[in-house]
Amino acid sequence: MPALRLMFRPASCRCAVLLAGLVLFHAVPAADAPVYRAQGLDQPTIDFVLGNFEFVLLHELAHVVIGELEVPVLGPEEDAADYLASTALLNATRGDPLSYQRANKRLLAAAEGLRLSWLAGAARGGELPYWNNHSLNIQRFYSIACLLYGNDPEAFADLPAAIGMPAARADSCTAEWQKADRSFHWLLDNFGRKPGEAAGPQIGISYAVPGTLAAAGLLREIRADGMLERVANAMRERIILPRELALRMRSCGRPEAAWQPEQRELVLCFELLDALYQLSAGRDAAFNRSGGVQLLQLPAIAGTHQ
Ligand SMILES: [Zn+2]
Repeated sequence: MPALRLMFRPASCRCAVLLAGLVLFHAVPAADAPVYRAQGLDQPTIDFVLGNFEFVLLHELAHVVIGELEVPVLGPEEDAADYLASTALLNATRGDPLSYQRANKRLLAAAEGLRLSWLAGAARGGELPYWNNHSLNIQRFYSIACLLYGNDPEAFADLPAAIGMPAARADSCTAEWQKADRSFHWLLDNFGRKPGEAAGPQIGISYAVPGTLAAAGLLREIRADGMLERVANAMRERIILPRELALRMRSCGRPEAAWQPEQRELVLCFELLDALYQLSAGRDAAFNRSGGVQLLQLPAIAGTHQ
């Protein structure tokens, strides 16, 4: 069945994530192929897609770091990649209020994407991938929400109640964040670039031409944002990888992102943008169907202006 086929990756792919774990708990039927709305891209759609896309990029780069530097990982690597992506996103921007606000917004969007994909999958009545190497999307949603809340309990004070997170979990979120944050800094202390050390190998970036209007519009937003360049530069500043690699945005025939170590390429598929666009388009309906679950809103972050 196509829903499951998309959950697997070729043997050459080390990481088995992507939309399988992130969005495509169910494949997008051909009949539901994204149709670019006449009015183009609204800001909420752009924010949603860019947040999810940056999280996918960081999650995949976490696999690159873990694999290339043989970083010890206790527990499932997919969970570690989620936690590393989350802590990197928030910690890399903490010194700059506007960037920090953007990071919170993007991580919140990524969490929302996971919850939405879970709701969409539940609405379709598909098989739940309990056997997958990723935690269930709804668990990943709560874990990211817990990190957001744990990192800034004041700003996100309303979040646990809004998403139905029991106090027993919410009360542990500060400790969960601190543990994740400590692990992030341990990684940098032990595997990071030392003062005075030259930057690591180049990280190439290339963009092909998307096949849909939606992906073309979203690619313009990603390039205007400078996301890939910013993330690649931040990574080279902090981590020295043993070999070069390239970030490639292109069509793949599947909505996924994949680190391909043999080719030294992290491929980010345009179909992923199409799938996220479609997921965004169904947000209001999905949340209404779910019985009044709230859309997540970014609270005021200390030191920033919304
Ligand atoms: Zn992964």
